[in-house]
Amino acid sequence: MIRFFILFLFTTSLFSATVERERWKSGETYLIFLEKKKLPLKELYYGLDKDDQRLTEEMRTGVHYQILKDNNETIEQILLPLNDELQIHIYKDKNHYKFEAIPIVSTTKTEAFSTTITSSPMYNILKDTGSKKLAQIFVSSFKNSLNFKNDIRKGDRLVMIYDQKYRLGRPFSMPTLKAAMIEMRGKRHYIYRNDDERYYDEKGHEVEGFLLARPVRGARISSYFTKRRWHPVLHKWKAHLGVDYAARRGTPVRAAGSGKIIYAARAGSYGNLIKIRHSDGYETRYAHLKSFRRGIHRGKYVKKGQVIAYVGTTGRSTGPHLHFELRKRGRAINPLQVVQVTTKKLHGKAKKAFMRLKENYDQSIELHLKNDTKSKKVHSFKDISYIHFIGKKDG
Ligand SMILES: [Zn+2]
Repeated sequence: MIRFFILFLFTTSLFSATVERERWKSGETYLIFLEKKKLPLKELYYGLDKDDQRLTEEMRTGVHYQILKDNNETIEQILLPLNDELQIHIYKDKNHYKFEAIPIVSTTKTEAFSTTITSSPMYNILKDTGSKKLAQIFVSSFKNSLNFKNDIRKGDRLVMIYDQKYRLGRPFSMPTLKAAMIEMRGKRHYIYRNDDERYYDEKGHEVEGFLLARPVRGARISSYFTKRRWHPVLHKWKAHLGVDYAARRGTPVRAAGSGKIIYAARAGSYGNLIKIRHSDGYETRYAHLKSFRRGIHRGKYVKKGQVIAYVGTTGRSTGPHLHFELRKRGRAINPLQVVQVTTKKLHGKAKKAFMRLKENYDQSIELHLKNDTKSKKVHSFKDISYIHFIGKKDG
């Protein structure tokens, strides 16, 4: 069993230590970061095993991270979030710096927001909340079913209920939309997130999302997607940001969606790698390939289902398999939640359960419409006055 305990819980004034919050810059790499901070490359990169080195490649542009310094400006600790569950913890231990991957401690709050539309949903959500992410999830969830352009009148309203994660007192990671309502010329349209994590309209019909085909036909999944996993033998936290399909060497690999090939070459531990860019910021990756299909190269457009390569075991791989990743704007997401060939209609028990869930959301939506038709700021957080840095310990 692993237990977590709070190493430091302090107010900045009390210990006269400082916590700096910085943003990962575009083009910044982990090694550049270490050099800039004058941190030892050997202890914090070259001395690490390959898995930990690979984790350091997961830092993404725009991510906020924290640095704790003592009153001599010496770096005591750094927390680098890799995704919404796992982070790199760099800390000073006597005269050495140490590296570990640890879970992110976050709390989730369900929040709601309602507003009257004066211009467009995107504009009004952004104006009222200051959150681009909230505007994005609202607009993209209705995108396939409604056309906002022509059918919204001034005075139409919208409500959204969503889960927001907080880390160190600040909103963190993409919010998850739970339910939403938008009026269009006074007519209401709804969307709900069901327990199966898919979205349905008020009739229990699934709202179509981004559709992917399976990249290897008939193959067995040998490893699932996980943002963090405790490795029982190595005794450390790891992530598997894709799905592995076990298949014989030479089995055809197909494009999971139509798009443009933006990479087709060797890439370190990925081995032979293909990256395809799709619409809406989606990207798929196919790793450990034996070889590329003739004519497949960077810049080429491919269709969903088209053979692009063959299963192999190049790079860091223990046997023939396809390592398949799906990313949205650089962020790894579980491809299995998006691989769906037909849209679902709920029936029987599943539909009953959904209707109960829907009823609860509807009541909540009504309440927000009644109590507040004006705009409301939801994300106005003052600077954090305290911060937890956590550590882990076998217990
Ligand atoms: Zn894999």
